[in-house]
Amino acid sequence: AQERYRSIRDKPAVTKCGTRIGLQMNAGLMADLPSLENSGAEGVGLFRTELQFLVRNQMPRRSELSALYSRVLEAAQGKRVVFRTLDIGSDKVLPYMKPNDEPNPAMGWRAIRVGLDKPGIMRMQLQALMRAANGGPLTVMFPFVAQLEEYRAARAEVDRTLEREARLGHTLPSSIEVGAMLETPSLGFAPPKFFEEVDFLSIGGNDLKQFFFAADRENERVRRRYDTLNVSFLTFLQDIVARCDASNTPVSFCGEDAGRPVEALCFAAIGFRHLSMRPASIGPVKSLLRRCDLNDVARVIADARTRGEMSVRESVMTYLREQY
Ligand code: PEP
Ligand code: MG
Repeated sequence: AQERYRSIRDKPAVTKCGTRIGLQMNAGLMADLPSLENSGAEGVGLFRTELQFLVRNQMPRRSELSALYSRVLEAAQGKRVVFRTLDIGSDKVLPYMKPNDEPNPAMGWRAIRVGLDKPGIMRMQLQALMRAANGGPLTVMFPFVAQLEEYRAARAEVDRTLEREARLGHTLPSSIEVGAMLETPSLGFAPPKFFEEVDFLSIGGNDLKQFFFAADRENERVRRRYDTLNVSFLTFLQDIVARCDASNTPVSFCGEDAGRPVEALCFAAIGFRHLSMRPASIGPVKSLLRRCDLNDVARVIADARTRGEMSVRESVMTYLREQY
């Protein structure tokens, strides 16, 4: 199998029906970057910046951060890197920050909520990213956005930081894309304005699923209870893709499920054109996508829905076994 993946490494993920799916990788540490070359990923669809904060015992300085991000961009050699701003709180607590005693940290003061309430760290991070871009393009994404106003406030921080950088005489990025992670159900139902304003969206399926089914992703007893290919969840995802398509907003899926071949195939069949996953999953996902016709898979999904199946998994698996 390894041999087969290697042979398609430099080939695009084009399905039998001719649809091209962009496959990117998730990363978070310098050690992940060599995978960009080895896996055949087209870029980094999710760079979890909090990991570099978590492996330290004190808050990094802006110059250190900027140097780190420069190295990431250098290693990417022009491939797009989506830097997600700090997603701390919840399961990720910085050893040098006073922990909050919260009854439900996953639904607590985390991610962009911390970023907006205490903007010091976010501003430092944005400055470090802008300097690392060194006059080239920059892509930033905010985690755990739950409503349009939060996205606007974060975007305003980006604009203010750009102005400050210009005043200080620093070279500005040649372009800057500002996206949001869609990982709370509320954002899926945001007004059309949101989908028009945001430069791109990425579905954080791990969190979105936990809040959609009200099933803690950290709790072994419940986390596997609800299938990602559950009809309710797929319908919700398809709806989000339709909203994005209506406003020409690029959307990707970057939760762990994007790296599971059958899930990835179903996501492509309901309209996703970009997936981001751990590097080792790129080969297996690409291999399956290249063998499938999305129209057939979409039909299998629609039929399973009509029959009232709870999850489309069995039907899709049966179809795949019969075909291949
Ligand atoms: C997600 O929630 O799906 C996601 C990609 O972010 P994280 O797993 O870091 O919360
Ligand atoms: Mg998340």
